[in-house]
Amino acid sequence: MPLGIYISVPFCRSKCSYCNFASDVFSRAVFQRYVDRVCSDIERAAQSAERMGERFERAVDSVYLGGGTPTILDITQLDRLFVKISQNFELQRDTEITVECAPGTLTAAVLEAFHRCGVNRVSLGVQSFIDIEAAAVGRLHKRATVVDDVARLQDAGISNINIDLIAGLPHQTAESWELSLAQAVVSGVPHASVYMLEVDEDSRLGRELIAGGTRYHAHFVPDEDVTADLYEMACERLDRAGIRQYEISNFAREGHESRHNLKYWTRQPYLGFGVDAHSMLQGAGRGRDFSRANSAQNNGPGFSPRDTGVESVRFAMSDSLEAYLADGPLQQTLVSPQAALEEAFFLGLRLSRGVDLTQVAAEFGEEAVAEFSATITEFVRAGLLERQSDMIRLTPRGRLLSNEVFERFISVTQEAE
Ligand code: SF4
Repeated sequence: MPLGIYISVPFCRSKCSYCNFASDVFSRAVFQRYVDRVCSDIERAAQSAERMGERFERAVDSVYLGGGTPTILDITQLDRLFVKISQNFELQRDTEITVECAPGTLTAAVLEAFHRCGVNRVSLGVQSFIDIEAAAVGRLHKRATVVDDVARLQDAGISNINIDLIAGLPHQTAESWELSLAQAVVSGVPHASVYMLEVDEDSRLGRELIAGGTRYHAHFVPDEDVTADLYEMACERLDRAGIRQYEISNFAREGHESRHNLKYWTRQPYLGFGVDAHSMLQGAGRGRDFSRANSAQNNGPGFSPRDTGVESVRFAMSDSLEAYLADGPLQQTLVSPQAALEEAFFLGLRLSRGVDLTQVAAEFGEEAVAEFSATITEFVRAGLLERQSDMIRLTPRGRLLSNEVFERFISVTQEAE
């Protein structure tokens, strides 16, 4: 199965108040060292996987540069990353090659580099088309910047564009949100990602909201119910425009679903490089004796899944730039068949098409599916899941309460152990 490649570029021009990613503002002096390290990791990828008892095919059908703001790199650094990928992997002819961009960073030189490197998809971190909302969370662009960027990308032959939007930003109202959604539709982009503002300890705005303070415009953040209404508005508005919801946070015109993201939700293999980049490889353990595997667990290097029949291996780079540059250790997680079964449910249920129970039974056994039948029936009765023949999927209400649903799918297997 072809691989997906992800490269993290954790550098930004400024730190947005809601951001809980491992990205920040760093001196340009560190960019070269970072690119050197990522290139060296790409070269050593096969040996690193081998040490974990895994291997991968060199065929690749999806490359994604995310972050952070990859377009903050020098052009020669961007070029170098793409050259290194093409030297070490076999990019298929129709490979989806995406770069995340902050509006206002698409210079003529960047567009030329995209053309040279085969970039055919761009994801723009817009969040809001309303200038006061974007400014309140520290975004550096205005609505006009985004409109101009989209037009320039389309002129340059890149029409496969995603726009990220956030429901629940400070100062946002149903009226202003409607304007943002309308602008996204009118721009002609075939893909939109809509997230609800996350309130957690990992962002400055989240911490201020938890503390009940007023910094970062926290007192202008709509409450949870309003944010949920805004999310539902987005689902309806985009659907009316033919941009259909295919995942909890993702919407696309037919044929423009993100191949990169689909790999995560359908448990296909991918390799990530750079700060906080995650990887998932499977294959070495498949079809082997799983009797010694437990639930997902962390293990030190040198532990081979081939010896134990582990279903797949997940591993992540450090989320600290300093530790990453100092060659810090990988966080490795061995995924047992039981944990893989849970993933098949809670990742698959993120997709609008849902989970095919026949397929799950073919992969994990009839008994495994039977363990979930009472939970599925309960959620169908509660209006959070719907079932048609052997397909189960979240209802619109289930999407809003998806975390509660997913938690139950995990606890079912824990009870059964
Ligand atoms: S540009 Fe993106 S990654 Fe950077 S701080 Fe803002 S939200 Fe975070």
